[in-house]
Amino acid sequence: MTSPWPGNAQCLVNITVDFDGLSNEAGKKLLPQGIHSHGRYSAKRGVPRMLEIFARHGIHATFFVPGYDAEHFPEAVKAIHAAGHEIGAHGYLHESFDLGEEEPFYLRKSHQILTDLLGEAPVGWRNPGGGKSEQTLKVLVDLGYIYDSSEKASDWPYIPTIANTPLCGFINLPDNVSSLDDAPFYRDSLTPPSEVLEQWKLEFHMAYSEGAYFDLIVHPRMGFGSGSPARAQVLDDLIAFIKTYPGVVFQRQKDTAAWCLQTPDSWPVRRNPRTVQGVN
Ligand SMILES: [Zn+2]
Repeated sequence: MTSPWPGNAQCLVNITVDFDGLSNEAGKKLLPQGIHSHGRYSAKRGVPRMLEIFARHGIHATFFVPGYDAEHFPEAVKAIHAAGHEIGAHGYLHESFDLGEEEPFYLRKSHQILTDLLGEAPVGWRNPGGGKSEQTLKVLVDLGYIYDSSEKASDWPYIPTIANTPLCGFINLPDNVSSLDDAPFYRDSLTPPSEVLEQWKLEFHMAYSEGAYFDLIVHPRMGFGSGSPARAQVLDDLIAFIKTYPGVVFQRQKDTAAWCLQTPDSWPVRRNPRTVQGVN
């Protein structure tokens, strides 16, 4: 079987970073001081540390940035962009709640903030708290987005549908907020960094064994994030581990999305032997 991925790769890797600065606290109407100041760590320490790691490994990542954080830390966001990483949208106030009829307004507001700051419109979106509505994808398509990195329904890219009709020119790049996200390990189970590294190594090894797609989520903030030294070292060590495998391609998610949309016959999950045929 030939590879479904660019460059005939055995495994396609997307490293993604959810900026999650002060927006997390502002969205909950918390004063971002003291125990609620974790978000400030992203721009001050976590982002520079991660940029150094990515530069040293010669890879590019995707950073999802809430509009509020772009307003408050424009230099950090511009530095990420200038280093060649992708900036995707991630809500305005990291809305972990149902926006109802206001959702299009906030999607457009965040889109405009990032576009004005960078001179380049984002084409990817990750929802901040799990909430989506019937209108989310319609608004994103209208704004020119080509992918959503929010679905948990697969571990393989797929074309979403609206009213049973495949969405043209748009793709889901699913994320895994259970075992490939630092937040549950550091926030919920208080897993030591050394054990997180072993978990992620196994996840990558199995994804590689299946010839699959690997999408890691990290946060540069303090608290549940990976910006602090020992936790950032986990990210550093994981990338070094992945690079010991032959035939691995690291990509920004917008490049993966564009490649999937341009080569619609090469990557569908039916090519994976561990697949029930007919279920996409
Ligand atoms: Zn987030």
